[in-house]
Amino acid sequence: MSIVADSVVAAGRLDAASHAHPSGAHPHTADPLADARTQLAEAAGILGLPDGLHRMLATPRRELTVAVPLRLDSGETRLFTGHRVQHNFSRGPAKGGLRYSPNVSLDEVRALAMWMTWKCALLDVPYGGAKGGVAIDPRAHSTAELERLTRRYTSEILPIIGPERDIPAPDIGTDEQTMAWMMDTYSVNSGYTVPGIVTGKPIALGGSLGRASATSRGVTHVALAALAHVGLRPERSTAAVQGFGKVGADAARFLAEAGVAVEAVSDLYGAVHRAGGLDLEALSAHVRETGTVVGFPGADPIDGQALLGLDVDLLVPAAVEGVLHAGTAEAVRARVVVEGANGPTTADGDRILAERGVLVVPDILANAGGVIVSYFEWVQANQAYWWRADEVESRLEERMLNAWSHVLGYAEARGLSLRTAATALAVERVAEAHRLRGLYP
Ligand code: NAD
Repeated sequence: MSIVADSVVAAGRLDAASHAHPSGAHPHTADPLADARTQLAEAAGILGLPDGLHRMLATPRRELTVAVPLRLDSGETRLFTGHRVQHNFSRGPAKGGLRYSPNVSLDEVRALAMWMTWKCALLDVPYGGAKGGVAIDPRAHSTAELERLTRRYTSEILPIIGPERDIPAPDIGTDEQTMAWMMDTYSVNSGYTVPGIVTGKPIALGGSLGRASATSRGVTHVALAALAHVGLRPERSTAAVQGFGKVGADAARFLAEAGVAVEAVSDLYGAVHRAGGLDLEALSAHVRETGTVVGFPGADPIDGQALLGLDVDLLVPAAVEGVLHAGTAEAVRARVVVEGANGPTTADGDRILAERGVLVVPDILANAGGVIVSYFEWVQANQAYWWRADEVESRLEERMLNAWSHVLGYAEARGLSLRTAATALAVERVAEAHRLRGLYP
């Protein structure tokens, strides 16, 4: 285990450019950690944070990198690299998803962990931020291999996780089955069942009703609020959604249920478009059968990149970070962008969208529904008392809309973008926790 010293911050402002994304997977973004640090620097400037505190908040509190050997079904052994980064736990246990993707890197996980800290603070859930990742393509492995990998990764990070220390959840490439394996591995090692060790687990193991669709519901609540803010009614609005996974598919469905015509969606393999709106039920059936939106007979194929520039009112990037960058933001014609994904807009992308008058609802607000219901799940699991679906959903909606109004009010009062306002509000809460706790020793 390595406890990270505050060595990654250049004096004063952070040296964002020196942390290139090693995967090369998102060539234009290149660097979610630089984007996260730029956002923090801006908030720190607005709040007048002392330099020492700014450095602490720019640096993960604890990070663990582990080698994860996997016995393949063929009998061969392969070695993968995993990380767990705990960015901050001054307001409570660290909390954040686990990602399986070939593009996972330590810097990406650091950025995602920092955004989790701000998200939890902004939504006032009593957690800090963490994130985990294993650099593996889950589509290239059998279920048995993924189970062995998950159990080994969990045992490797066991010393730093726990229901009062750090609570993982699903993210890209992981799901409720992954969480069930993590919970079992942790419980077997503890000698008793510990349902509070993960969230996003199956209902039968103490998961919460409404968790699986919570991020997408939250995205929809703020998307409808943002459309209303710019004077658009849902039934007269159109949308495009990038990514048709756990977040994107349900967000598209809930938007359509609210009356929005979802005209285009995409996944890793391509995109489909139908003017007037897609038949999302038929599209989901097609995806269940084939594994992709490509080839859906009820729509026209379009280029995945072209989806970002469609003439729609609402664009929901719900796939990966860094897709709205200097090379794509100019083409965006949507009036509103609601970030279902974490970090889909780079610092350059943000500037260009702001210049063009596009309202961007930032990730730490827009996709916070998942961590809100994760918090509800953790509360329920710790109390062994479960709530009804309508209780979960109304509490989720209330928190999302309160946060939306709070961020909007803060932004308008100070002439800030929603992202800067949301980050400043969140950083202020974390900074206050640091001040109140003091520095030990
Ligand atoms: P997922 O693995 O379920 O789905 C990802 C989807 O994006 C898939 O359809 C995939 O094909 C598609 N995709 C990947 N790269 C793409 C590309 N370049 N262009 C278009 N599509 C692409 O993952 P998820 O859980 O839906 O997460 C999506 C995003 O939402 C991530 O940024 C994640 O961190 C964020 N997020 C997820 C949750 C959650 O509760 N699952 C909560 C908050 C934020």
